[in-house]
Amino acid sequence: MSSPILLVEDEVAMAALLRQGLEEEGYVVEWVLTGEEALARLEHLQPGLLVLDVRLPGMDGVEVCRQVRQRWPDLPILILTALDGVEDRVRGLRAGADDYLPKPFAFEELLARIEALLRRSRRQLTRHLLRDGPLMLDLNARTATCGACTLSLSPREFDLLAYLMQHPHQAISRLQLYRAVWGHDFDHGTSLLEVYISYLRRKLQEAGYPGRIATVRGIGYRYEPADG
Ligand code: CA
Repeated sequence: MSSPILLVEDEVAMAALLRQGLEEEGYVVEWVLTGEEALARLEHLQPGLLVLDVRLPGMDGVEVCRQVRQRWPDLPILILTALDGVEDRVRGLRAGADDYLPKPFAFEELLARIEALLRRSRRQLTRHLLRDGPLMLDLNARTATCGACTLSLSPREFDLLAYLMQHPHQAISRLQLYRAVWGHDFDHGTSLLEVYISYLRRKLQEAGYPGRIATVRGIGYRYEPADG
């Protein structure tokens, strides 16, 4: 199921820029111009995160925030406020926003705050790009690159790496990997998975990837990203 970012922003140029940037990062973005539209869209859209400008025509962002919070208590909300908008920030946070970002901001900071919010809320958004340092997997095109190097992965290797990248720092059991990648509810025995992991390790190493897939004795594996 897709779970996009819902962006509420009335400044068209700003919204276009944000949408393009977020889409380049692999997020799916739905954009509306007003709070009223946002509330209407929320009924069906089920976004994974709301990026909400405070100064909107019609209903202002703080009121939108309050109404959203009442009905969707768990939805992460990031509000965009004016640089000098201390009052907006305070009202926004009191109305249930999880975080704020004063305009103008660096796009990198928006990304970092979105990532932090998703981590805290333990949510994952639909993304077709997975990135870790120089390593990038495009889940739509099913391509894997590390810097300038293209990794030649079999379908199983690709699925295995994608699953590991989506669960960094976790000890993942062999059974979990068999389920996710082979769709089987049983352990094929150590050798098959070990063989695939060793292929992956070798290909990642040859491509110059600085992270690693660690063995967790008696359990399975742990993906240790280059990004830390
Ligand atoms: Ca505005």
